[in-house]
Amino acid sequence: MPKVSASSRLLVVVGDPIKHSLSPAMHNAAITALGLDAVYVALRAEATALPHLIRGLEAVGVAGNVTLPHKTAVAQLLIRLTPVAKDLGAVNTFWPEGGRLVGDNTDVPGLLDALDPLDPHGPWLVAGTGGSARAVAAAAREKAVTLLIQSRDPARAAAFAAWARELGTDALVDDGRPVGTAINATPLGLRPDDPLPFSDERLDGCRAALDLVYRPGGTPWVRRLKARGIRAADGRSMLVAQGAYAFERFFPGCRAPREIMAAAVERALKETG
Ligand code: NDP
Repeated sequence: MPKVSASSRLLVVVGDPIKHSLSPAMHNAAITALGLDAVYVALRAEATALPHLIRGLEAVGVAGNVTLPHKTAVAQLLIRLTPVAKDLGAVNTFWPEGGRLVGDNTDVPGLLDALDPLDPHGPWLVAGTGGSARAVAAAAREKAVTLLIQSRDPARAAAFAAWARELGTDALVDDGRPVGTAINATPLGLRPDDPLPFSDERLDGCRAALDLVYRPGGTPWVRRLKARGIRAADGRSMLVAQGAYAFERFFPGCRAPREIMAAAVERALKETG
């Protein structure tokens, strides 16, 4: 933990629930390593509290992160958004500028960083149509790859594909064509008895996969993929990368110590496991 004094700067992560969040462990490890006078804490806030909370944080210049289920609601409360946050209508990071809070979505560069070492050829196939699937659509736009969408509900897949095309992504409902990369953007894998997000047959020929889910001991899907010789990683790499980009918004001019943040995540996961 950082040494806290009356001059320490406060950083927060806002969500509901929030007890499971690894962000305080990750950011406080980085703050301590760089000898910064700051402390990062978790705030549980219900949706009805957000307007007052955001105005209060703004009044005293507090920066922070936003997590489920508030990424969209907080985007609507901020005075200015970066282009990617505006495109997605969701923020996971905010900080004060000129007395007002500005929002960004570091999930997108975090996702791109997590995908990069996997050499993620297109087309990409994503499972899920929620908030993190939107970040996948923005990442696919950035990489100029075709994105296929799998959902439990065909109408939701079609609506998501239409939204992603508006964004500028070459997106369509999964039509079964061979894919280069698969991404799990559902909560499947959080529980050990969950089904896998994709059938083995659907991923025949697929060479890379990213599971956004992480849990102590790794996820069953990543273990299965690796056993099949597919390059695969779970959500820890994205968690650390999005956190590193957020840290660099909080402390401009500082380089986030990613290895220290990753080690803190490992420790915190072991403690919760
Ligand atoms: P959302 O709830 O916004 O969306 C999840 C989507 O998954 C839903 O829209 C739904 O799509 C699908 N889904 C939900 N429940 C099930 C189920 N039981 N079986 C199959 N599909 C389901 O969550 P997020 O997109 O924000 O996050 C998804 C997961 O990604 C989280 O659980 C979290 O673990 C992980 N995550 C990790 C991050 C990281 O940094 N590593 C960052 C953000 C998220 P549909 O109904 O169309 O099938």
